Amino acid sequence: MSGVAGNIVIWFKRDLRIEDHPALAHAADLAAETGAQVLPLYIVEPDYWREPDTSLRQWAFTAECLVGLREALGRLGAPLIVRTGEAVRTLAALCRDHDVRRIISHEETGTLWTYARDRRVAAFCREAGIVWEEVPQTGVIRRLRRRGGWAAMRNAAMAGPLAPTPLALQGRAIDLGLIPEKPVPDVSADPCPRRQEGGRRAGLALLGSFLTSRGENYRKAMSSPVTGAAACSRLSPHLALGTLSSREIARAVAGRRLERPMGRWPGALSSFESRLAWRDHFMQRLEDHPALERDCLDRAAEHLRPRMGDAARLAAWSQGQTGLPFVDACMRSLRATGWLNYRMRSMLMAVASYHLWLDWRQTGPVLARAFTDYEPGIHWSQVQMQSGTTGFNVPRIYNPVKQGFDQDPTGEFTRFWCPELAAVPDAYLQTPWEWPEASSVLERHYPAPIVDVAASARAARDAIFGLRQGRSGEIATVRRFEKPKKAAQPKPSSQLSLDL
Ligand SMILES: Cc1cc2nc3c(=O)[nH]c(=O)nc-3n(C[C@H](O)[C@H](O)[C@H](O)COP(=O)(O)OP(=O)(O)OC[C@H]3O[C@@H](n4cnc5c(N)ncnc54)[C@H](O)[C@@H]3O)c2cc1C
Repeated sequence: MSGVAGNIVIWFKRDLRIEDHPALAHAADLAAETGAQVLPLYIVEPDYWREPDTSLRQWAFTAECLVGLREALGRLGAPLIVRTGEAVRTLAALCRDHDVRRIISHEETGTLWTYARDRRVAAFCREAGIVWEEVPQTGVIRRLRRRGGWAAMRNAAMAGPLAPTPLALQGRAIDLGLIPEKPVPDVSADPCPRRQEGGRRAGLALLGSFLTSRGENYRKAMSSPVTGAAACSRLSPHLALGTLSSREIARAVAGRRLERPMGRWPGALSSFESRLAWRDHFMQRLEDHPALERDCLDRAAEHLRPRMGDAARLAAWSQGQTGLPFVDACMRSLRATGWLNYRMRSMLMAVASYHLWLDWRQTGPVLARAFTDYEPGIHWSQVQMQSGTTGFNVPRIYNPVKQGFDQDPTGEFTRFWCPELAAVPDAYLQTPWEWPEASSVLERHYPAPIVDVAASARAARDAIFGLRQGRSGEIATVRRFEKPKKAAQPKPSSQLSLDL
């Protein structure tokens, strides 16, 4: 054991499983070699759960995963220990009381908060003479020198063998600690009645149903919130908390391909595989730029919007009360389920950043809290991309009226989440303010729109255009400025067709 005696802590973070767990497999090997006892640990860190991007729904999902993990580790002989407290103090106490000389964890690509905590843990380990090993579990490469060649390295990591599940671990008689109902007593209430269930069993069930039946129409159905909820894998919170590894999922897809499924399956499987690769791509970006959640990637965009935007707009957007029916339906659905399909996440973000002209640092945490699957690397990259602050992707200003007609053509989704609009005819569902009888609904049961969609999009386009024009050698264009296709709408809005 490279000269280090004593017991081993395996510190679980976003890796709540025992299968294909390289860090756990490594700990088991070392323990078998030396006769060390293994202490599997999860730390509930109150200060983390007070961060503005965390929420009770995320904790509730995590807690369900911890229950399953405790059972699985218990079957191996070393059930999960749960402690609540600051990480360094918790680890220090455990190391002191249980002769721990080595901590093993996965490499976490997290927020600035977790990055700072990891630096504190590293400093403590150095001072205390404790070895801390961090083992990769995704396609993210730490201390990557050049981005060129990353894809090949990532694909090689994904194609490698699965880490063996330990057959047994020698645990230690110790108070296991409770998995708390709340991570901090004063955590804000966060009702999410349709939240996905945590735990590996639920994740495996989703993987199975996606690969055998739900996923066939994935490509076509993913864009709409009506069809996407069933046709997408819904594996995101499981990937975020690591109840399944991305390599296991990639392996299952490859196995499905060997069955030579017909029809739309080959395309669906390829699209899904691409998204698993995007996941690593965006997480790698955060690994390389830890300040992504704080600073605009394009420095010139830093003062594009006021840092403290209009509070009334922020509140209306966050609560699904903008008076733009499809935007409100998407936000309300997200608040109740903890999930939304990719296109509608993009639209929500784009409406906040362009039409409402709110800074992404105000709105990004609102979405992060609402996502059960909050994954910092994907999230902050996407938030900046949908806000026009990266300097390299072409901004897309979604038209929420067009999106409503295109992605919810029957209006069922909008009507379900905005029941106040029951009396509004289909032709006006996405533009109730144009309905001749609007006054019977607007401002009585449902808000009037807080912005003029066309005018606010135009103003945003001009501001972004100006920012880009100000720099030589860069694309001075906002290509994806959505124009509604008249034919695609039951009733084109005269205002929109004129201006957009
Ligand atoms: C503003 C914004 C914020 C987002 N924040 C998150 C987040 O916090 N956590 C998160 O997991 N996803 C995030 N996404 C990406 C995407 O919307 C979700 O991954 C997807 O909707 C999850 O559903 P699913 O598991 O059914 O996805 P599927 O379509 O079944 O895809 C499978 C997996 O691939 C990955 N993936 C899918 N789409 C993307 C993408 N565009 N970029 C990177 N990886 C992708 C996810 O891990 C996903 O679970 C965000 C997108 C936007 C526009």
